[in-house]
Amino acid sequence: MKLVVTGAEGRMGRMLIRAVAEAEGCTLSGAIEREGSAVVGQDAGTLAGLSPLGVAVSDDPLPVFAEADAVLDFTVPKATVAFADLAAQARIVHVIGTTGLSDADLERLKAASYHARIVRSGNMSLGVNLVASLVRKVAATLGEEFDIEVLEMHHRMKVDAPSGTALLLGEAAAAGRAVALADTRVSTRDGHTGARRPGDIGFATLRGGSVVGDHSVIFAGPAERITLSHHAEDRAIFARGALKAAQWAFDKEPGLYGMDDVLGL
Ligand code: NAP
Repeated sequence: MKLVVTGAEGRMGRMLIRAVAEAEGCTLSGAIEREGSAVVGQDAGTLAGLSPLGVAVSDDPLPVFAEADAVLDFTVPKATVAFADLAAQARIVHVIGTTGLSDADLERLKAASYHARIVRSGNMSLGVNLVASLVRKVAATLGEEFDIEVLEMHHRMKVDAPSGTALLLGEAAAAGRAVALADTRVSTRDGHTGARRPGDIGFATLRGGSVVGDHSVIFAGPAERITLSHHAEDRAIFARGALKAAQWAFDKEPGLYGMDDVLGL
């Protein structure tokens, strides 16, 4: 399978290049960075700390996508929606790990998925998707006397909050309770907030150091608490999940898929 990595210089981009280079049956056919980036023209292997792979980083995605089977995209929302249009034109698989997408961005992805096979998830790891499926079950079992709070911590460079994973877990809790997250979500608390509204799903965000990603979903009831947690120790888990998603989507019909489809959860 011929794969392209976008955001090649990023933390995830370099990890993805290494994962593709090591995966059996996969070849890195292209690496993309934004226009004007200092790494354009550099060898993608060297950029990722490997031996040269004979693939120069480019800032011109369309001809690179046209020669590929799939694109692995962990960049920024503005770039991701543009890549989705190009993936649709090229009729290829678009695996999206980018977080912080707006409702308007998601509409653009939906339109692109009439022609592209898009797999999007705020977290590509097996562990988090398993935790999400457990959260859905626990939320469906417990009543509103159990308050749901989602706590996350990430490295100091992260730009969006709550994390895509925290939102994914919040969505799972809301789905379990058969409510819309948009109606129950509380992302900030400051000052005299008043008492907690029954049924709210709260989010708390910590930032600092080099934390790859810690998430806990707390079900706080009368005199007891259940906590489901996941700790990511290495970005390789996201890269492995993204590769698995690309391989899974290869023979699927155009559409918008999630990691629960890929993992059969
Ligand atoms: P990062 O280190 O900042 O990397 C992002 C890369 O994208 C940078 O190299 C950036 O280049 C590049 N980029 C920006 N605009 C571009 C464009 N128009 N064309 C091509 N490349 C462009 O961030 P990261 O830690 O790798 O994370 C990237 C995204 O993945 C974030 O949204 C993060 O939350 C998400 N993420 C998701 C998962 C998951 O499992 N779903 C896991 C980890 C991270 P410049 O720096 O030159 O602008």
